[in-house]
Amino acid sequence: MHPRYALVTNQLKKHQIRLSDRRLKILECLCYNLEHPTVDQIYVNLHKEIPTLSKTTIYNTLHTLAELGLIRIINIEDNKTRYDIITESHGHFKCQTCGSIFNFEVDLKFFATDELSGFKIMERNLYFKGICQECLLNKND
Ligand SMILES: [Zn+2]
Ligand SMILES: [Zn+2]
Repeated sequence: MHPRYALVTNQLKKHQIRLSDRRLKILECLCYNLEHPTVDQIYVNLHKEIPTLSKTTIYNTLHTLAELGLIRIINIEDNKTRYDIITESHGHFKCQTCGSIFNFEVDLKFFATDELSGFKIMERNLYFKGICQECLLNKND
């Protein structure tokens, strides 16, 4: 079993939240198949297996998980909401060639400055754009 999947299902048990099998599929999708997917991407991914699964159900399931702090909602592009199974502090790098979003480790705690003293910070995001290593290598061919 995927470690993240085990972690989240354990937490659900602890909160006494029972997810139906089809809702668990959404979680599975987030752990195994897709990185930082949108609702649409999960929908496309699961449509063959569960044709009756609606985008609304996917949306609601993800938001339930996010409210419990088990997944993270990320808005690194203006028009797309993505969902992240990794809830620990990390940064994102988006490749502008292949569109992949990579995680990188960074402790965002250290990014608060004196200018924000007295402010309540709800979210910390670090977002880089560029070209990933693989796309750079392919370019040189
Ligand atoms: Zn790339
Ligand atoms: Zn991430």
